[in-house]
Amino acid sequence: MSIPPEAWRYGVLGWPVGHSRSPAMMRAAGLERYQRLPVAPAAFADTVRALGGAGFRGANVTIPHKEAALCLATTAGAAAREIGAANTLTFGEDGEIAAENTDAPGLIAALEDRPLGSAVVLGAGGSARAAVWALARAGADVVVWNRTRARAEGLGARVIDRPDGADVLVNCTSVGLDRSSTAFKELPLSADGLTEYATVVDLVYKAGGTTLIREARDRGVDTVDGLEILARQGALSFTIWTGRPAPLDSMRTAARDLIPEARCAPNPFH
Ligand code: NAP
Repeated sequence: MSIPPEAWRYGVLGWPVGHSRSPAMMRAAGLERYQRLPVAPAAFADTVRALGGAGFRGANVTIPHKEAALCLATTAGAAAREIGAANTLTFGEDGEIAAENTDAPGLIAALEDRPLGSAVVLGAGGSARAAVWALARAGADVVVWNRTRARAEGLGARVIDRPDGADVLVNCTSVGLDRSSTAFKELPLSADGLTEYATVVDLVYKAGGTTLIREARDRGVDTVDGLEILARQGALSFTIWTGRPAPLDSMRTAARDLIPEARCAPNPFH
């Protein structure tokens, strides 16, 4: 018997996933049956294959499962296939698992109508791969810097030793996540050098903002922070699952934690 849309379940798969803001954000968007799904890598395949039968319509996927999610899918969109990772799974009644990557279009959506002639991407992990793909498809001349240079070689963009300005700088390293980290020691940037970029984007987010975003703002540089990126990729996942435009403002507010999660609908599964 098919499950009516109002009973569909959703979740975010990760390991760990306790820190995720997706449940608050998606419940604020109206997906009240959205929950955290902490799944260890060894259990990932079996769990994902069982989700459709357990009433799940969709799942977001975060670290470390994005590549595995693509491998399990029965169909995949161009972004997921070409990037090699999926962050959005949609479950069909017949066991179909459709994979998509909304990290890449989410970044472009967050940049709105800013000029994208040139871009510097810092990092060579999963999010950097998505950023390079998205920016290149948007027409940008993209260069990449990574601490481990060899890892950046496979990203499909010119690898550089030191960036020197562009329309957009995108930090896709995890620098800035750790409270003790000092962005300007670990990245090839100086605080004053941030004025060489029209827009500074930091995928990393934390309460009070990252050093990169704060220093850019202090110098009058336009910024896009990681919570905006999170809201944008989530909004695209919402639309894939529901076929409706996402309530972006509500999602953004929830992602920024301005409303406590307790005021959202309680999680019926915990
Ligand atoms: P990942 O695959 O683990 O890649 C991590 C990257 O950070 C690598 O390029 C690594 O360089 C670099 N790095 C780590 N520590 C460093 C240090 N001390 N100095 C210089 N570089 C360092 O991670 P990811 O999935 O791409 O995610 C990266 C960050 O983006 C994470 O903090 C994640 O939370 C955030 N993110 C945010 C969103 C969002 O919606 N806002 C979405 C996706 C990811 P090496 O290759 O040299 O190790």
